[in-house]
Amino acid sequence: MLKVPDYKFWFIVGSQALYGEDDLKAVEKDAKEIVASLNESGSLPYPVDFKEVAIDAETITSAMKEANFNDEVAGVITWMHTFSPAKNWIRGTKLLQKPLLHLATQFRQDIPWDTIDMDYMNLNQSAHGDREYGFINARLRKNNKVVYGYWRDQEVQTEIADWMNVAVGYNESFKIKVARFGDNMRNVAVTEGDKIEAQIQLGWTVDYFGIGDLVEEMSHVTEEEIDKEYADLESRYDLVVGDNDPKFFEDHVRYQLQEKIAMERFFERGGYSAFTTNFEDLWGIKQLPGLAVQLLNREGYGFAGEGDWKTAALDRLLKIVSHNTDTGFMEDYTLDLRHGHEVILGSHMLEVDPTLASSKPRVEVHPLGIGDREDPARLVFDGQVGDGIDVTISDFGDEYRLIGYEVDAKMAEAPAPHLPVARQLWTPKMGQKSGSTQWIENGGGHHTVFSTKVTMQQIEDLTKMFELKFINIK
Ligand code: MN
Repeated sequence: MLKVPDYKFWFIVGSQALYGEDDLKAVEKDAKEIVASLNESGSLPYPVDFKEVAIDAETITSAMKEANFNDEVAGVITWMHTFSPAKNWIRGTKLLQKPLLHLATQFRQDIPWDTIDMDYMNLNQSAHGDREYGFINARLRKNNKVVYGYWRDQEVQTEIADWMNVAVGYNESFKIKVARFGDNMRNVAVTEGDKIEAQIQLGWTVDYFGIGDLVEEMSHVTEEEIDKEYADLESRYDLVVGDNDPKFFEDHVRYQLQEKIAMERFFERGGYSAFTTNFEDLWGIKQLPGLAVQLLNREGYGFAGEGDWKTAALDRLLKIVSHNTDTGFMEDYTLDLRHGHEVILGSHMLEVDPTLASSKPRVEVHPLGIGDREDPARLVFDGQVGDGIDVTISDFGDEYRLIGYEVDAKMAEAPAPHLPVARQLWTPKMGQKSGSTQWIENGGGHHTVFSTKVTMQQIEDLTKMFELKFINIK
């Protein structure tokens, strides 16, 4: 599986020198206890390091500059134990180029009525320290995350965890490189986009390759390498020969494995973590990559068909956020419009991401009318059930927009024995009529990333980090 570096987050606690050494020691002790407790909770996907008690502009500015420079630091978490005059934070906060989470919490959950005095109040004044600090972040249009509540609460820890996954996605987004085999599908509008703007705003590098580059790479794959992949395939999935001749079936599966091995090698060499294909550009290859794409999705590679590099990069980005679970490229295909049964059937010609599988995938070989090539092997399975999201990215000339809605992911009401592709069904949570109408009115495309792992709150946090226009259909 594609690896993400071992990121960590810094924890900076705000205070000031006014209170004296004893209070600053107490602030540091309490902050360290919060950090230790969060790390031991098992709730967070990445560790938190206590950085320092921030008492003046110099220490804050220095810490933020260091956070920018240190590649292991994915973001900064701040907490105001006491009042911390926010003019001290202006320079450092402006310089910080990484995600910022303001944890608005208090060391003690309740008010100790029996013992509370003014010393206690001065030491534990997060209530107004958080407002002073929050003001300057808002004034600086920092777009930072605010998580409010008692730090031991599961809800608070889950919110921190979800944000951490988004923050790592943000950091990693600037490393996403998309390899395009062929250009975009001819005449199609929504899959086009400004590649330079995508790199400026989202960090994505998008490189073109001729399909001949893949053909050349495939010629170096050995039979032994394919044997190994074939054995792995048999150990994981059901191989269903069906009406095919067994030799024909095996040859066609092996061809997809040859494509998979070649692409993976090509991507590793070039540092690519997402890719596109185009069924109009298959000169010199026998099958449109289907199973090959799906196996690479399983390893974490982002993908979209028809040269749609925007969706391929978004797919990789959300696979990082979701730790490559329950997340993949999707396409709106066919509808059930009957009242009470409204549902969208999502799929693709072949390439549905097996991280979305809820049943054991079957390897099948069937003809494919599109692309004018030999019958391709593919994985066929049922998709997810439960709460999910569906999001797309479109280029409107003056800006990129992320468009999405929350969905109920569903199982088909009946088996579809003649449908030779994996399927994912969903109904927009606001209703199919309302959700689809708004989607179309806003110009959202038919290529999406579907997930039952990533939440709409995470998408909103992500778009804030990128200062990306977000249309959250409700
Ligand atoms: Mn498509």
